[in-house]
Amino acid sequence: SKYVYSFGNGKADGSADMKELLGGKGANLAEMTSIGIPVPAGFTITTEVCTYYQEQQGQYPAELKAQVENALKEVEELMGAKFGDPENPLLISVRSGARISMPGMMDTVLNIGLNDNTIKGLINKTGNERFAYDAYRRFVNMYADVVMGVRPETELEHDPFEEILEAKKQKSGVTLDTELTTEDLKELVVEFKELVQKRLGKPFPEEPMDQLWGGIGAVFGSWNIPRAISYRQIHGIPEDWGTATNVQAMVFGNMGEDSATGVAFTRDPATGENYFYGEYLTNAQGEDVVAGIRTPQPINRAKTVPEGMNTLENEMPELYKQLAGIRDKLELHYHEMQDIEFTIQQGRLWMLQTRTGKRTAAAALKIAVDMVGEGLIDKIEAIQRVEPEQIDQLLHPMLDPEAPREKIAKGLPASPGAAVGQVVFSAEDAESWHNQGKKVVLVRVETSPDDIRGMNVAQGILTSRGGMTSHAAVVARGMGTCCVAGCSEVVVDYKKRSFTAGGVTIKEGDFITLDGSKGEVYKGEIPTVDPQLTGDFGTFMEWVDEVRQLGVRTNADTPHDSEVARNFGAEGIGLTRTEHMFFEGNRIDAVREMILSETLEGRQAALAKILPMQREDFVGIFKAMDGLPVTIRTLDPPLHEFLPHTDKEINDLAKDMGVKPAQLKAKAESLAESNPMLGHRGCRLGLSFPEITEMQARAIFEAACQVASEGVKPLPEVMIPLVGHVNEFIRQKEIVARVAEEVIAKTGQKIDYMIGTMIELPRAALTADEIAQEAEFFSFGTNDLTQTTFGLSRDDAGKFLPDYVSQGILPHDPFVSIDEKGVGRLVEIGVELGRKARSNLKIGICGEHGGDPKSVAFCHRVGMNYVSCSPYRVPIARLAAAQIAI
Ligand code: ADP
Ligand code: MG
Ligand code: MG
Repeated sequence: SKYVYSFGNGKADGSADMKELLGGKGANLAEMTSIGIPVPAGFTITTEVCTYYQEQQGQYPAELKAQVENALKEVEELMGAKFGDPENPLLISVRSGARISMPGMMDTVLNIGLNDNTIKGLINKTGNERFAYDAYRRFVNMYADVVMGVRPETELEHDPFEEILEAKKQKSGVTLDTELTTEDLKELVVEFKELVQKRLGKPFPEEPMDQLWGGIGAVFGSWNIPRAISYRQIHGIPEDWGTATNVQAMVFGNMGEDSATGVAFTRDPATGENYFYGEYLTNAQGEDVVAGIRTPQPINRAKTVPEGMNTLENEMPELYKQLAGIRDKLELHYHEMQDIEFTIQQGRLWMLQTRTGKRTAAAALKIAVDMVGEGLIDKIEAIQRVEPEQIDQLLHPMLDPEAPREKIAKGLPASPGAAVGQVVFSAEDAESWHNQGKKVVLVRVETSPDDIRGMNVAQGILTSRGGMTSHAAVVARGMGTCCVAGCSEVVVDYKKRSFTAGGVTIKEGDFITLDGSKGEVYKGEIPTVDPQLTGDFGTFMEWVDEVRQLGVRTNADTPHDSEVARNFGAEGIGLTRTEHMFFEGNRIDAVREMILSETLEGRQAALAKILPMQREDFVGIFKAMDGLPVTIRTLDPPLHEFLPHTDKEINDLAKDMGVKPAQLKAKAESLAESNPMLGHRGCRLGLSFPEITEMQARAIFEAACQVASEGVKPLPEVMIPLVGHVNEFIRQKEIVARVAEEVIAKTGQKIDYMIGTMIELPRAALTADEIAQEAEFFSFGTNDLTQTTFGLSRDDAGKFLPDYVSQGILPHDPFVSIDEKGVGRLVEIGVELGRKARSNLKIGICGEHGGDPKSVAFCHRVGMNYVSCSPYRVPIARLAAAQIAI
């Protein structure tokens, strides 16, 4: 079978839609080649070979060798040079590239094919000895590190090659790499090779073919290095995809002042603005821009550029024009914002990569909306361009613009948002501090791909070097984490664990605040406020609402939450937990009195105190949800949750109730249960103490009648929890219906209401037809349903469930995304039986799953009417509902 796909000189075996086989990089190199964009010739070894390599402990399919050799020959012909030839050597890169991009996580080796013979050819060919040795020392360094594993052994140890390089610079009395002489570079090559021999006890490989296969093995092997595994875990990328390997002729951005290398986005990846945005360095090679070693220059003046700084547009106007033309061509071709890599070798432009650009949520929205306006895509396409989870970023708090602040530095606004936290200087510390419950800001000179875990837990990231396209910036944007990059005023001292900026010294553990949208750093903690949603957000969500079929409600217990959710587009409340109100202020006293009373009269007296308070809450909620349905659940949790705990609490309460403390204590102890989640809770309470249900129903309907008399339209839906048998429901419904009719008759208001139930026990799902004959609506309580279906206590699962997921026993946490096979099956049965008994049965979900995009898709597929989720997830659920309806 075919394992190798060639590209070059306008022709390619592969294409953009072959990402599974060729990886994103390989597929797009092929595509660019086919549409006439200049790409150095090369070939891609498929992801199938990666899988084979992993499964067969580093072996390759038998056919591979010949296919690689043939493809290499084609590259040699196209480039007019020969791999390993001492007269006219071809140099190549070996590059990783998975189905979706994992920036910097896997390995790439440049300048393969150099040895003490071929270097002569390179010098002859280019007439540039300094360049040749610069390429050589970079190659030995990179190959020894990536392929042979010569690198620092701990995080604190310096890079051994970097140390040799620094020593050389000091000896020569220079500060920049570019100031090193040819002699210096020559010596570096020798010293680097000596280091390899010393560390590994074997020589650096001189044979180009060995170098090539070493590189290929390293790239396939890098699929399984720790940072790549972490990245896949964080982004939910399957382990079995594998990476492709791209072998490509080298082009050189480090051949002098007429050479350069750069990275660009076809639109601004932070804001989404439609202008060509990029950075470059003259006389530099590939990694230099992304690694943040030198802070690069902008390609144009589309945004303000510091006085005296050059741009590609004025340094190399013709090449800039060509590059801008390629930008337009790529956007027209892909209909998508692209992230590109280019290199200019002695006045000639080459494209080395294009891919869909990572962007912030704000940019994703703006680009989607703009592209509809530009006619590049339609609304349906636009809706699919934004990840539901990404929307979350837009709803995150921003710095309170009114709050006073002390700015200590300004860098590049690499990834927007606000971050407040304690300063740490290593990714390891970020993780361990985070595990202690602290909020941290990770401060580094630059970040490396190994910092991925620390970056993921940090509130924000601050680097003193590197540009907008540096590793730190790209990774932070992908995670939605605030980042200020290239902040040269920040001088980091890792040894002292402190940094100075603006005349201030900040030590490890001190608080700082970052504004990733402005690129500013402040001393101390600045308060945050809710964000303003932009016009694009409104436009986009209108399209979303046109498409989706599923309703989206919210879980809200207070008028404030109800208002927030309504502003986010909630179409009603799917769950009000009445017991949450019991903890407000000193209400708990009355509640305790009710629970601990020995007599009906005692309970009724206490309930009489609670009634007006509950009624007040419902009045507020009905007003906030004027004209929209409000589902109110009757008392649900086990009673002991409300009990007094300390002796002082018991004594005070006993005094209020006029009983002896000992008696009260005994009563409280008698209410303790050994398995409360399966104990005296839910409708079981209302059945034992019907007066509680009665009081709650009265509060609901008195509130409804009161607001109705003021011109508000309340639509109460009373919901009975934890029903397992229809008889439980019938008895509770009788109480609610009787009170409702009483109150309505007394006030003379007309109230549309419904009485329904939660389906959260397997037995309820299995007998849903019986229950639906009595209940007017169902709401699936998937938290309890998951708990009871798995027989898994949610409060204790934290001790072992994460292991289940990491060991692959379960594909994901069933409390986060619904377990479709098991719990979901019960939901399907419940929906089907319910609708059979009552065809117009209204069905929703009110567990945490209601805000999880995957579960929302499931709810759509089983034919629910709505999902309900917490206020801040309402827009996420709306988008997820639209995407599944497309
Ligand atoms: P990553 O996926 O981490 O970006 P790449 O494979 O894109 O890794 O390579 C890293 C850097 O090396 C990039 O800047 C790229 O442009 C550069 N590079 C890769 N191959 C070549 C080549 N054939 N000629 C010149 N530069 C190259
Ligand atoms: Mg790249
Ligand atoms: Mg429940």
